[in-house]
Amino acid sequence: MNIHQYDLLVKFSTLRKPFVYFILGGPGSGKGTQCELLSKNLKYVHLSAGQLLRNAIKNNSEHKSTIENCINNGGIVPSHVTINLLDKAIFEDISSDTFLIDGFPRNYENMENWIALMDNKINFKSVIHILCSRTTMIQRITERSKTSGRSDDNIQTLEKRFIRYQNDTYKIIEHYRNKNQLIEINGDNSIEIVQREILESLNQLNNK
Ligand code: UDP
Ligand code: MG
Repeated sequence: MNIHQYDLLVKFSTLRKPFVYFILGGPGSGKGTQCELLSKNLKYVHLSAGQLLRNAIKNNSEHKSTIENCINNGGIVPSHVTINLLDKAIFEDISSDTFLIDGFPRNYENMENWIALMDNKINFKSVIHILCSRTTMIQRITERSKTSGRSDDNIQTLEKRFIRYQNDTYKIIEHYRNKNQLIEINGDNSIEIVQREILESLNQLNNK
């Protein structure tokens, strides 16, 4: 790369304002699965907040014990830790201009801090909420627990994660519903049907 190209790249990256979607839903609602498919179908980048936190534990981050405690108790990691990981992941990746953030924001504090720190750096598009019955979610997590190796895929932690979702995440969803920035999809259907419905909604939104 020559100096001129390098200059352009730097300019481009500081001017770049990536598009962002939040994908929300209870534990086992299919966020991860659907995001993987969307990233294949639309060339968007999938960022799982939970996965970034689990990686931070593996990499012995300075916040390792805080993160571990929150995850094992179905709690929510302090916003600045999660936002910092997301910020880095978004701005280190120039492979796409659109990012799917899966599993964040989880509570009002997450959302307010995100708005304060990130809103002017990105173009926010919409929340995609995968609405799923508790029976389906329990069935899927029970199945997943056989192979996931996740310390939080057990019935005790799952109960706490349901409570956090119902009490905290729901407020985020209502907030975006009132702003008309919510896409809601029935997550009890098959993977293919859910994917098709999300793709249709995104198509509508982006061709408005
Ligand atoms: N978590 C968090 N903040 C986030 C995302 C995840 O604190 O922004 C923690 C929280 O304890 C959650 C766990 O990580 O229960 C697992 O999150 P993940 O999204 O991987 O679980 P899923 O909902 O997909 O089953
Ligand atoms: Mg997930």
